[in-house]
Amino acid sequence: MDQRTCLVTGASRGIGRGIAEHLASEGANVVVNFRASEKEAADAVEEIRSNGGTAITAQADVTGRREVEAMRDLIHDEFGEIDVLVNNAGITQDTRFEEMTREEWDQVMDVNLGGVFNVTQTFFEDIKSADEGRLINISSIVGKQGNFGQANYATAKSGLFGFTRTIALELARSGSTANCLAPGFTQTDMLDEVDDEIQDKIRSEIPLDRFAQIDDIAAAVRFLASEESSYITGEVIDVNGGMDL
Ligand code: NAP
Repeated sequence: MDQRTCLVTGASRGIGRGIAEHLASEGANVVVNFRASEKEAADAVEEIRSNGGTAITAQADVTGRREVEAMRDLIHDEFGEIDVLVNNAGITQDTRFEEMTREEWDQVMDVNLGGVFNVTQTFFEDIKSADEGRLINISSIVGKQGNFGQANYATAKSGLFGFTRTIALELARSGSTANCLAPGFTQTDMLDEVDDEIQDKIRSEIPLDRFAQIDDIAAAVRFLASEESSYITGEVIDVNGGMDL
């Protein structure tokens, strides 16, 4: 990954931070995007630098096109065009469908799909003109299976499957690829928000009998970002401990 520049959205904590650290450990220049968690993002960059890597923070709410475009200018000034985009930023607003407000629906669509639209379109030319550019969208097992209380989130995450396949076709002639990663339940702040009782029930349904660790997910993204994945495009890669068997 030497000389490659990678942008990871929502990389101040959780899975995004893990992905940023893994890509930096391969020698890439890494951009740690965040919305509000400035200190956490600075800590992530500090950690990468202390391990000999190269990284910067870049604030932008992915729902704001202008903020995303300003982030592109900052990245271009610092590193030039990007080679790898990881659309990781995502939120949940869980409640059973009959009680879900239109606002809760819209907020999740706005970040989990609208944000992907904004960032991918803003950096599309970079990825297309890169030597084997990579677009990696972080979906979820919930996009495949659905999940009680997550009608908004499941809809947005399954939307990424169609988006990824279409972009894979539109990128193919340039030699760049687009793939989706569908993690199972992963030990992060997002999972901590789920009641203990429900966490226990979910864990009991995982054949490998544990939640994913951030490294499990980040290692798969590192592979998709590498040149070793050159001939894989338009795919959904499951990393879920056997939950979908
Ligand atoms: P997390 O711990 O809640 O972290 C979310 C990250 O996204 C934070 O860095 C947050 O930054 C950022 N973010 C949220 N809204 C943003 C916005 N509008 N603009 C820019 N950044 C924004 O989440 P996670 O568990 O690591 O999840 C990361 C991704 O994996 C998500 O797409 C999620 O849907 C997916 N996923 C998670 C699991 C799981 O079990 N954890 C399973 C499958 C898929 P700020 O703090 O600055 O807002």
